[in-house]
Amino acid sequence: MKLIFRILHFTSLLVVLAACAPAPVPMPTATPATVATGTAVPGSTAAAVLPIAAAVLSPTPLPPTVIAGPESAPMPTPVATPATPTPVPVTCQPSLVPTIAQTEGPMYLANPPQRANFREDARNAGGEPVTLAGRVMGTDCRPIANARVDVWHTDARGAYDMTPTYTSRGYVLTDSEGRYQFETIVPGIYTGRTAHIHVKVTPPGGRTLTTQLYFPNEATNAGDAIFDHRLLVKLEETPQGKRATFDFVVAP
Ligand code: FE
Repeated sequence: MKLIFRILHFTSLLVVLAACAPAPVPMPTATPATVATGTAVPGSTAAAVLPIAAAVLSPTPLPPTVIAGPESAPMPTPVATPATPTPVPVTCQPSLVPTIAQTEGPMYLANPPQRANFREDARNAGGEPVTLAGRVMGTDCRPIANARVDVWHTDARGAYDMTPTYTSRGYVLTDSEGRYQFETIVPGIYTGRTAHIHVKVTPPGGRTLTTQLYFPNEATNAGDAIFDHRLLVKLEETPQGKRATFDFVVAP
């Protein structure tokens, strides 16, 4: 009887222990751990942690970086594109004043030769060499080509050659730029006149301008009743000698 009692007591004790025993903790299912390369590590204790780490370490696309400049930075000033230069017409405003006319005088000889060098004329020996040059142009500044520039003046002694040798006489035609040029001497003077050069300028198909040219700083200019300062040449000293220039402006 006593033995039976002890067996029962032991059995009750087992029942109580069984009831109080903690429920078995299920082992976590082995999830293949993934490292950066995605290699599974079966059975690893880090199986539950590595996926998170891998997720953290994996490159997450970042938003594009915008580097802001200083707020005070000035906006670039647009640079204006230079306009295409417009061709400038060969004209002028205001219009040029036509060269004044003067008397022809009695010493003009018709039909002079076309020649530009009077310096070699025998009667001009000993005269002071000078180059007379310039242009013929319209009042609109356009050069006049093929204008006839007819010149006559005294020889070195101040006398006109009225013979067919045409000392200090001749004409030239202007080039495409309206230029003319003579190689001559500073005219000699005669009573009542200062040094001067007679000229006729005739544009093609145009009217003839008859006038005279003078030299600056001539003592006899002031005593010449015909002298006009508007007809003074521009006189320069060059390595080749004196150069007198004058541009004729002819009315249309
Ligand atoms: Fe004269």
